Order: sequence, then C-alpha cells, then structure tokens
Amino acid sequence: MKQLVILGAGYGGLMTALKLEEKVRHLKDVKIILVDKNEFHQYLHLSYEIATGVKKVDDFIIPLSEIIGQKRIQFFQATVENIDLANKIVRTNRGSLSYFELVVALGSEPNFFNIKGAEEHAFCVCSVENAAQIKDELKRVLAQDKDAKIVIGGGGFTGVELAGEIADELNCCVTIIEGENKLLSAWGIPEFSGKVATILTEMGTKLVFNKRIIELKPNVMVLSDGSQMEYSLFIWTGGVQGSRIVSNSGLNTEKGNRVLINEFCEALGAPGVYVVGDSALVVDPKTGEILPQCIEIALQQAHSVAKNLFADITESQRMVYVPKFSGLILAVGEKYGIGRISGIKVEGRLALMVKKVVHLHYIYDIAGLTETLETCL
Ligand SMILES: Cc1cc2nc3c(=O)[nH]c(=O)nc-3n(C[C@H](O)[C@H](O)[C@H](O)COP(=O)(O)OP(=O)(O)OC[C@H]3O[C@@H](n4cnc5c(N)ncnc54)[C@H](O)[C@@H]3O)c2cc1C
Repeated sequence: MKQLVILGAGYGGLMTALKLEEKVRHLKDVKIILVDKNEFHQYLHLSYEIATGVKKVDDFIIPLSEIIGQKRIQFFQATVENIDLANKIVRTNRGSLSYFELVVALGSEPNFFNIKGAEEHAFCVCSVENAAQIKDELKRVLAQDKDAKIVIGGGGFTGVELAGEIADELNCCVTIIEGENKLLSAWGIPEFSGKVATILTEMGTKLVFNKRIIELKPNVMVLSDGSQMEYSLFIWTGGVQGSRIVSNSGLNTEKGNRVLINEFCEALGAPGVYVVGDSALVVDPKTGEILPQCIEIALQQAHSVAKNLFADITESQRMVYVPKFSGLILAVGEKYGIGRISGIKVEGRLALMVKKVVHLHYIYDIAGLTETLETCL
C-alpha cells in the first residue's frame, strides 16, 4: 500500500487531498491520510471578524467530515510533532505514521522577533480560536474601561484589517505601532500605504511609526527609543514564520522559516516531500521576488502537487509549478477596501465586494456549491 500523508487541512493541504483523491480513487493500492490538529477547516483570512464579535467561530469553520464525505481520504486528528525524514515517519501526539510520499502544509505561526515577554502577554490572530480569545479579551477590557488602550503591534496587512474592524465595530481607541515609517511596507505600493493611513486616522486609529517593541511587561511595553507605553490589550500582527516543525525536522528553510522548494514544489534535499502554502518559500521565476503567503498560491500549489504525487505513483511526467500571483485586497473596516487584482486597482466598496467574491470562490473550490450558497445567505 502506498501511503500518501498530508499534514495540515488548511487551504493548501485540504485542496491537495481533494485533488489527489479525484486522481487516485480508482487505485486500490493507494491510501491518502490527511492530518490536522482540528477536525475542521477554517477561513483563517477572515478571522479578524471573529475578534470583534461580528462573526462567530462557527461562521468560519467547516467540519472536515462534511467536506471529505465519502471520498477516499482518511482523516487523522492529531498534532504533528516531528517529521523523521530518514525513516519516512511522521510523529504525532497520537502515534506515528509512515509515508510513501509526504505533503507538508502546516501553515504559519507568529514570529515575535525575540520581543521579550511577547509569548506570555501578546494575543495573535493565527487561528479562529485565537480570534475568539481576542474577542473575549476585548469585551473584558472594554467593560472595565471604555477608553481601554488596544495596541496592535505591526502595521502590515493583518494589523490594518484588524485595526479597521475594531475601530469600526467597537468604536474604541486603537493604536498601531509600526517599526517602519509607513503602513503596509511589505506590499510595496506607497500610494496604498498613504491612503490607508489617512482612512485609519479618520476612523480614530492612532499610528506610531519608526518604533519597535523591545519588551512586553504586564500592561506596559518598552519601545526602541526607550519610551514606555501602557496597554490594556496587545495584539501582535508584526510577523509570521513557517511552522517550526519544518526546520526542526531538518528541512532546508530560508527567509521566514519557509522551506526551499524546487520547480515541482518538492523540498530541496528531501525527495518525495512536497511543501505547500505558507510553509513553502515560493519565488516568482520571472522576477525572482518572494511571493506573499496567501490563499491563491496555496491553492495553485495544491493542484500541482496533487498532479505530481499522481505522476510519482504512476511513474509518469511531473508538472512544473509556475506561480501566478493576481494580487490581494485589503479591507479597512466595513466600508473601505483597496487592492490590485491582475494589475487593476480596486478601491472603496467595490474592493470589498471583490474581496467577498474571491472568498466565495475559495469556499466553492474547497467545499462546493451548498456551502457557498449557505455562506451567501
Ligand atoms: C488574519 C489573517 C488574514 C489573512 N488575509 C488573507 C487574505 O485576505 N488573502 C489571502 O490570500 N490570504 C490571507 N491570509 C493568509 C492565508 O490565510 C494563508 O496564506 C493560507 O491560509 C495558507 O494556507 P496553508 O494551507 O499554508 O495554511 P493554513 O490555512 O494556515 O493551514 C494550516 C493547517 O495546519 C494545521 N496545523 C498547524 N500546525 C499543526 C500541527 N502541528 N499538527 C497538526 N495540524 C497542524 C492547522 O490547524 C491548519 O488547519 C491571512 C491570514 C491571516 C492570519
């Protein structure tokens, strides 16, 4: 029996499993095992709406059993602890799994850049559960003091979306602390940075630039210029890195702990181990630029990797993966969005509508028509 093990049932892992199953369902000697610590797939990219209470956790998760149904995918709920590359074994909290070939799609985790005290005192939006914890904390601190200081560390995509949502929905005092001299610096579109800063300021958000957080103590933080700032709730959105399981297992990683992959999405130096989504370092072959961790790339890779696993099993030609990044749309609260899709700029409510359509398209791809229609209602 050829056991194909897929780690992670996020966008990359789940889509790989679904596409692979379509190809191998007639092959009796092939088994697909999908592993995740949760028994559901989550719409991680919208989790900031849970943080403000606009949406509930249940609105943004789908049980894996509903998606998998009668398909020939065996789901194994377990937390992956280590990959033993030499012996082709995955170790989990519920025992070991051997594999013929492996797909690593374990997503990202926060990167605190050695900020002292961050692990203890910072909240993050890295899962629907984390977003629900932020909702509870926001409720608690705002009940004690309606002027409670909500501080977001990091003015990138997630920090801005979260600040916009909190300012809009909870009408409270939010401050973003950003180490660079502008918002959204990684996006590389100065016009967007300026516009978004203006919109957020109009919404009452305070923006602090050129200051890095050095240490978090209970309710007070130390900044790089030596000053201190009080906070009631601190949320870190300043960086993510690939799951540490990949580097701890000996896979070759580079920037942001993302695994170096070849043109087939296979980990360099680890034949038969494919890496998909945020765990992989995906480079645009035309420009040499590192592409952002996003759903579009995770889904594209999943399609390619499913084909390549099938090619390996059937000893046929593998397919080269050529990334095509169309762009991202940022939501700043309920009324304003901005982004660029396939080179075309979209802004305002139109941008929010496009973002919604893109989201529905993802749901359709992953979970099918019924779930998409239910989301629309
Ligand atoms: C707040 C926020 C907003 C975002 N907004 C956007 C956006 O607007 N557009 C966009 O394209 N992208 C956005 N992203 C990024 C997008 O969500 C990711 O790029 C995408 O989810 C990556 O897919 P993935 O399959 O690599 O990882 P994920 O979807 O994160 O899936 C990883 C899976 O691995 C599982 N897992 C992790 N560790 C273990 C373990 N040790 N054992 C077992 N299971 C494990 C997790 O439970 C999860 O199911 C956003 C992300 C966040 C956090």
